[in-house]
Amino acid sequence: MSDQYDVIVIGAGPAGYAAAIRCAQLGFATACIDKSLGKDGAPVLGGTCLNWGCIPSKALLDASHKYVEAKGHLGDIGIEVDGVSIDVPKMIARKDEVVKGLTGGITALFKGNGVTNLPGTGQLLTGLQVAYQDHQGTTSTLTAQHVILAAGSVPMAIPAAPLAEDLIVDSEGALEFQTVPQRLGVIGAGVIGLELGSVWRRLGSEVVILEALEDFLPMADRRIARDALKTLKGQGLDIRLGAMVTAAEVADGEVRVRFEDGTGEQALTFDKLIVAVGRRPCTDDLLASDSGVGVDGRGFIEVDEHCATGVPGVYAVGDCVRGPMLAHKGAEEGVMVAERLAGFKPAVNYGTVPNVIYTHPEIAWVGKTEEELADEGIAVKTGSFPFAASGRALAANDAAGLVKVVADAESDRLLGIHVLGPQASEIIAEGVIAMEFDASAEDLGLTMFAHPTLSEALHEAALGVGGRAIHMVNRKAGRS
Ligand code: FAD
Ligand code: NAD
Repeated sequence: MSDQYDVIVIGAGPAGYAAAIRCAQLGFATACIDKSLGKDGAPVLGGTCLNWGCIPSKALLDASHKYVEAKGHLGDIGIEVDGVSIDVPKMIARKDEVVKGLTGGITALFKGNGVTNLPGTGQLLTGLQVAYQDHQGTTSTLTAQHVILAAGSVPMAIPAAPLAEDLIVDSEGALEFQTVPQRLGVIGAGVIGLELGSVWRRLGSEVVILEALEDFLPMADRRIARDALKTLKGQGLDIRLGAMVTAAEVADGEVRVRFEDGTGEQALTFDKLIVAVGRRPCTDDLLASDSGVGVDGRGFIEVDEHCATGVPGVYAVGDCVRGPMLAHKGAEEGVMVAERLAGFKPAVNYGTVPNVIYTHPEIAWVGKTEEELADEGIAVKTGSFPFAASGRALAANDAAGLVKVVADAESDRLLGIHVLGPQASEIIAEGVIAMEFDASAEDLGLTMFAHPTLSEALHEAALGVGGRAIHMVNRKAGRS
C-alpha cells in the first residue's frame, strides 16, 4: 500500500464513491477509505444509500406494493389471484441479495477504474495528512494533495426513545424485521417514517405515525401535501399530527409510548417502534482537533458553493455538508469536486435538486412551492392536471394525484413542479431537465409528449399555466 496519493476520499457512500471514481477516471492516484461492515462482517462499499437506505428501502417498498396489488387490486382488473401470502424472511433475504449485488458493483467499479480501496477508518489531520486504521487495527499516516470528506450521516437519536434490542429501532432495524409486527409505532412523519411505515402497513401492520409538527410535509406544496395525507390515511396509515413523543420504553416485551397532543398526554402500546426523527452528519471522529476544518453547531462541515472547506485542498460533499440529505445531491457534489480538481468548472445547481418520497402514490417535486414564492413576494401563475383525467393512469387503474406547475407570472419561467401520483419519481426528471434549461411553462407546453403516458399530465399542467390545457374544460381561454 502506498502512503501517498493525489486524492484521498473518506467515505464510500454515493458522494464519496462517485468522487473517487471520477477522480481516478481523470487520472488522479486515488484512494477511498470506508469503515462500513456488512451483515456478514466484511467491508462493504456504497455507504448508507446502498446498504441501509435508498436501495434496501426501495426493494421492500416495491415488494410490498406488489403484494398489495396482488392481494387487493388485481381483482379490480379481472385477474383473480387466490391464496396470496407473504414470506417476510424471503423478502428480506432478497433485499439483501439486491444490496450485495450493488455494493459488489461498486467494488468492481473501484477496481476497474483504479481506485485504491482502503477498508477502515480515516481521520483528517493537519497538512493534508490522513490517519488510516484498517479493520485489523494497523495504523498508518497517508498524505495527499487533496482530501475529500464524504462521511455521510447517521440516524438521529432522541433521549425520549432510546433504541432497545429489536423493539425500538432506527431505520436500519426497520429494514430487518423477520415478521410483520401487529402494532407498529413510528416517530416522525418525515420521509423515512412514511416510506417504512408504508412498507409494514402494506404487509399488514396497524401503523400509527406520531408527528410533532401540526403541518404534514411542510416542505411540500400545500395542495399536494393535503391530498397525500388523505390518500395515505385512506391506506390505513394512522398519521397523528401535533403529537410530540415524550417517552418510549420496553415493558413486558411491548413498547409503551407517551406523547402529547392538543388534548393532553396520551399513551399507546406497540409491538415495535421505529424512530425516524431525522439524520445528523457523521463527523464526530472525522477531524483531528488541529485539522483546521470548520464545523457548524449541528456537526455539518462548513463549505462554500463548490464544497471547498476553509483548508486549501480539503473538500466535503454529501450528507456531511449543508443542503438536502439525498444520494443524488451528494453524488453530484462528488463529481463536481473531482472535475474542479482537474481544472474544469462545473457547479451544482441546488435550485433543481429533485425530492421524491416513494410512497404510493409517490410524491415528488423540484424547485419552489407556491407558498415559498408568495413569501418571497414573487407573483406566480399555476397549472395543474389530475391523473384522474389521464388515459394512461386510468388504463393502469392507478389514477390518484395530480401534477402542478408553478411559473413566474411575468416571465413564464418554471419555478416549481410538484407531483403526487404514479411514477412521480420518473415524471419529475422531465421537470428537472426543463428547469435546468431554464424553460418556460410555454416551452414545456410546446414540447410533444408520447401518448398515452403518465407524463402527459405534466404537459397538460404546463399548458394549463397559460389556460391552454386540452383535456380540461376551459371556456375562458383567450387567443394569444
Ligand atoms: P453515506 O451514504 O452515509 O456514506 C458515508 C460513508 O462514509 C459510510 O459508509 C460511512 O461508514 C463512511 N464513514 C463515515 N466516517 C468515516 C470515517 N471516519 N472513516 C471511514 N469511513 C467513514 N436518499 C435518496 O436520494 N433517495 C432515497 O430514496 C433515499 N432513501 C433513504 C432511505 C433510508 C432508510 C435512509 C436512511 C436514507 C435514504 N436516503 C435516500 C438518504 C441517502 O441514503 C443519503 O443521502 C446518502 O446515502 C448520503 O450519501 P453520502 O455519501 O453523503 O453518505
Ligand atoms: P425527516 O426530517 O424527514 O423527518 C423527521 C420527522 O420527525 C420530522 O417531521 C420531525 O418533526 C419529527 N419528529 C422529531 N422529533 C419528534 C418527536 N419527539 N415526536 C414526534 N415527531 C418528531 O427525517 P427522516 O424521515 O428521519 O429522514 C432523514 C433524511 O433521510 C431526510 O432528510 C431525507 O433527506 C433522507 N431520506 C430521503 C429519502 C428519499 O429521498 N426518498 C428517503 C429516506 C430518507
